[in-house]
Amino acid sequence: MTGASVLTHCPYCALQCAMALTPDAGSTEAPGTDAPATDAPGRVTVSGRDFPTNRGGLCKKGWTSAELLSSPDRILEPMLRQADGTFAPASWDEALDLVAGTLRSTRAEHGADAVGVFGGGGLTNEKAYQLGKFTRLALGSSRIDYNGRFCMSSAAAAGNRAFGLDRGLPFRVEDLDRAGTILILGSNVAQTMPPFIIHLEGARAAGGLVVVDPRRTATARLTDDGAGMHVQPTPGSDLVLLLGLTHIVIAEKLVDTAYVAARTTGFDALRRSVSQWWPERVQQQTGVPVWQLRELARRLAGGSTADRVQGRGTYILTGRGVEQHADGTDTATAAINLSLVLGLVGTSHSGYGTLTGQGNGQGGREHGQKCDQLPGYRKIDDPAARAHVAGVWGVEPDSLPGVGIPAVELLTTLGKPGGVRCLLVHGSNVVVSAPNADRVRAGLKALDFLVVADFFFSETAVLADVVLPVTQWAEEEGTMTSLEGRVIRRRIAAAAPTGVRSELWIFHELARRLNAPSTFSAEPSEVFDELCRASAGGLADYSGLSYALLDTETPAFWPYPQGSTGTPRLFLERFAHADERAHLVAVRARSLPEVAQRGGELTLITGRLLEHYQSGTQTRRVSELNAARPDARLQVHPATAAQLGIVDDGWVELTSPRGTVRCQATVTVDIRFDTVFLPFHFAGDQRANLLTDDATDPISGMPEFKKTAVHVRALVEA
Ligand code: SF4
Repeated sequence: MTGASVLTHCPYCALQCAMALTPDAGSTEAPGTDAPATDAPGRVTVSGRDFPTNRGGLCKKGWTSAELLSSPDRILEPMLRQADGTFAPASWDEALDLVAGTLRSTRAEHGADAVGVFGGGGLTNEKAYQLGKFTRLALGSSRIDYNGRFCMSSAAAAGNRAFGLDRGLPFRVEDLDRAGTILILGSNVAQTMPPFIIHLEGARAAGGLVVVDPRRTATARLTDDGAGMHVQPTPGSDLVLLLGLTHIVIAEKLVDTAYVAARTTGFDALRRSVSQWWPERVQQQTGVPVWQLRELARRLAGGSTADRVQGRGTYILTGRGVEQHADGTDTATAAINLSLVLGLVGTSHSGYGTLTGQGNGQGGREHGQKCDQLPGYRKIDDPAARAHVAGVWGVEPDSLPGVGIPAVELLTTLGKPGGVRCLLVHGSNVVVSAPNADRVRAGLKALDFLVVADFFFSETAVLADVVLPVTQWAEEEGTMTSLEGRVIRRRIAAAAPTGVRSELWIFHELARRLNAPSTFSAEPSEVFDELCRASAGGLADYSGLSYALLDTETPAFWPYPQGSTGTPRLFLERFAHADERAHLVAVRARSLPEVAQRGGELTLITGRLLEHYQSGTQTRRVSELNAARPDARLQVHPATAAQLGIVDDGWVELTSPRGTVRCQATVTVDIRFDTVFLPFHFAGDQRANLLTDDATDPISGMPEFKKTAVHVRALVEA
């Protein structure tokens, strides 16, 4: 016999596909409680269920996600590092007493900012909220940031700058169905979130899907056979491309002048800033031919007209391909500028959006995990924001720490004088996912004390002094916020193994041991209610939400203030700036794209595969996914391969000033001759981030992941 199905959502990406989990026969069910411990962990069967975003579809990551619940690799009790370097199991009291005692002594000896916290974009809203509160109240530290800094920070900074508010998609995903034109810049949704492509069908049928990517990805191939256009620029030239498209729109008088006059500021400065980017110059720097630039600009503008005539819209969507640059904020800003001069944003059928990647990448940046923010997407240096949140927490505003430092900077302080000496990591595997990964690893090893909460011994957890085993998605209650700002429920379908605890319980126990002010509930619904109160009046206002309302499956798009019915489509009447207008911000290309093969170098792009999620900690442990993609493969063009003596399946070595990677090659025409591609999901000497630089965007703190100069050579097999 099987139990009743539990309605929940996928543990992985931000599309948050809806699924039903049915406990298998003989499995231990755990209905209605927060992950009671058991010696017989629950096993469940996954099925897709109808929902506006995925319409019953799941990708292979979703279908196979339940395997991890009963993985033999799970950590089943707290583990403490021993004097000989090995781990030994310990009781929860023993582990938490050690952690609390070390946190207390580090703080006393070196100050509160000697303790740091690193969070994750996969944590539920409740955990993200409680992690921020725990850091600021129980630890008194400003040193918190999270791995979303590597994902959404540039788009978030650009959205805040232009609109006064950042919500990845300020419209519903299904609104894309009626689009006549969709421009996707730097996102391979056909592999990273496959069910999403059902929403591209309308644009494909209209011949209006345009994909900008240096690689001929699965998404780029959707433009074949008259469905649209693939634009293949030089890596890192996205900003120049967007400046050039805006130049053409202005020069060819395709601007929606009435919209620009009524709803924006800054047009004159923008016009001056793009005046130098005439098409021939853009072609020279991006490699995109003039005819294609002009055709694309006209298509985008024509789509805008079609919107009015036929009710079919034009959408511009950005992804990590154009955002994960050291000029990522300006690049995303340039995409927004283009959208605004075309009059797309805040209309009923068109728009601009950014495609959030991590499962709770949206909610994860709203509730206080970022170094400069408090819950409700409030600025931590805003006196009114501090007073409101301090009031909810029952503390004095002056007792809250100030602005901290963003993720990459935080990681570079590890173990250094005046830096972080003791670090808590939740939901992140920085040894694989952070840029200049070996420097990060060295920093972690230099710490006085490292605590990692995880399901498995990730590449980061193996360096820890204490590892705390935590519940997985199907073993916990909570909420997530999808890429469209829709708040959804995560529900328990399986019992957690004995000895595994929820992170909310861990925060509760540590806060109690540290005599923290305020309360730290371990009950998800209580934490959510408090989160809603803390968010009231903020940009990301959840105050009208509750578990009871979410359990009715009512569509819940923030802002959702008390008494409202939420906001599926933002900016219809006004933008969030005080002047209610969108701000066109003139940006300029600060550096030229690297010249292909200068000094024998190629340009490395890092990215994702269909089979794996983020650092691969989870998906590399799923048998079907691992069998399909067990290791990293370098994509290299046949002409380049011939020049370097590389053969298909042959071994290659990539070097940059920061490290060396060895892997096999796939020779393919799907990539430019001057570019190579390496997925970042893998461990050991196949970590793509051994090569990447930790130079960051000065506004967002985003590292440069998409334009690394590398030497590549064929390895002669013995
Ligand atoms: Fe899960 Fe994303 Fe795949 Fe949907 S697309 S099943 S949310 S990994």
